[in-house]
Amino acid sequence: MDLRSTSQDDRFRAEVRDWLKANLPDHELETFAEKRAWHRKLYEAGFIGMGWPVEYGGRDARPMEQAIFGEELARANAPRGVNGLGLSLVGPTLIHHGTEEQKQRFLQKILSAEEIWCQLYSEPNSGSDLASLRTRAVQDDDEFIINGQKVWTSGAQFSDWGLLLARTDPEAPKHLGISCILIDMHAPGVEVRPLKQISGASEFNEVFFNHVRVPAENLVGTLNVGWQIAQTTLSYERGGSTLGRVAEHSARLTRLLEVAQELRRDGHRAIDDPVTRQKLGRMLAEVEVLRYGSLRILSRLEKGLRPGPESSIAKLHYSELDQRLQELTLEILGPFGQLIEGEPDELALDPGSAYGEPGSWGFSFARSRAATIAAGTSEIQKNIIGERVLGLPKELRADRLGMQQ
Ligand SMILES: Cc1cc2nc3c(=O)[nH]c(=O)nc-3n(C[C@H](O)[C@H](O)[C@H](O)COP(=O)(O)OP(=O)(O)OC[C@H]3O[C@@H](n4cnc5c(N)ncnc54)[C@H](O)[C@@H]3O)c2cc1C
Repeated sequence: MDLRSTSQDDRFRAEVRDWLKANLPDHELETFAEKRAWHRKLYEAGFIGMGWPVEYGGRDARPMEQAIFGEELARANAPRGVNGLGLSLVGPTLIHHGTEEQKQRFLQKILSAEEIWCQLYSEPNSGSDLASLRTRAVQDDDEFIINGQKVWTSGAQFSDWGLLLARTDPEAPKHLGISCILIDMHAPGVEVRPLKQISGASEFNEVFFNHVRVPAENLVGTLNVGWQIAQTTLSYERGGSTLGRVAEHSARLTRLLEVAQELRRDGHRAIDDPVTRQKLGRMLAEVEVLRYGSLRILSRLEKGLRPGPESSIAKLHYSELDQRLQELTLEILGPFGQLIEGEPDELALDPGSAYGEPGSWGFSFARSRAATIAAGTSEIQKNIIGERVLGLPKELRADRLGMQQ
């Protein structure tokens, strides 16, 4: 692992800094339209989908350049673009497994956020055990007919399209009868019902499918190999953008340090309390450990390797660290930490965003509860690390022992 940045990297970092200085919005972006307009600006400057092939609208940027951009964005406290799931999940899936027609039809509109996407995987009884999903897609000539229900679908209420996992062969073993299908969220029979979260926002939804007709050409890859397709792209969702998250944690911690120097508790500045100082120091050290872990993933990507099961280590670390940092923040801020600015529904307008908007401490604290659940729970990440990174024996699950569940 080479941790030195090259002169090319330094030049690129300076270019990004200059661009952000000249273009950063001078006010908080409040509506989805404003966020989409900011996204469009980033896209036109070539900063969206940077790692995608040039022929599909990307710039074939190296993973290090993408990480530098993520870092600078967080350092400048700049808003991120929209269409997070379209960019991190759907785009890479189509680039690896889509037909040329699908690539031409969808990729550019994902980049420009002309079409917003959601991820239709989880169901009421299929989250960690995703392969047990029951939403059915039945082939009828040149169409699929979809019936079933999804849940926790982030951003479905703003989405034009969804990447759906559905059962196409109920007789096959559960991992082998699933297909991956692109579904128009405006099609007749699709019903989206927002769910209210602890943060007050409705970031995710229930989605119902009632005899929804989808053209057969919307199948991604081969029939019944949807599970394998989902596996290759989930590792990107879990590991690909860790360095940007490190910068977000750093920016948050820097703001907390500033506040701790101002805020007076029991007649002293919060920072003067030795226990608080100790906890802040430990947090700074933890963020540095996360940075080196992310550089490790980055050097794998730089060598042309996939993030692989190791991305579960990063996911486990950054999500649990996020919660520890939010708890420390509220401990230091006391009652002030519970203030939430803005309307919660406006705070979660970025489907796929990991932490919501950083402006409000109270919102970030409530939002951080989700970090160890979304994109696979901490327990599941530990199973993956145990079995696929450390090579430990597989967990003894009831279904593997042939017992009724
Ligand atoms: C903010 C947020 C956004 C989300 N967005 C989306 C989205 O856009 N699209 C989508 O498809 N899904 C989305 N999800 C759903 C998410 O992927 C699931 O919540 C997650 O996979 C867990 O599934 P579950 O909620 O059904 O919990 P369950 O799988 O029922 O788990 C319940 C508990 O049991 C534990 N557990 C389960 N199995 C095991 C095991 N084998 N070993 C040890 N412990 C186990 C879990 O760790 C957990 O603590 C989102 C979730 C959140 C919180």
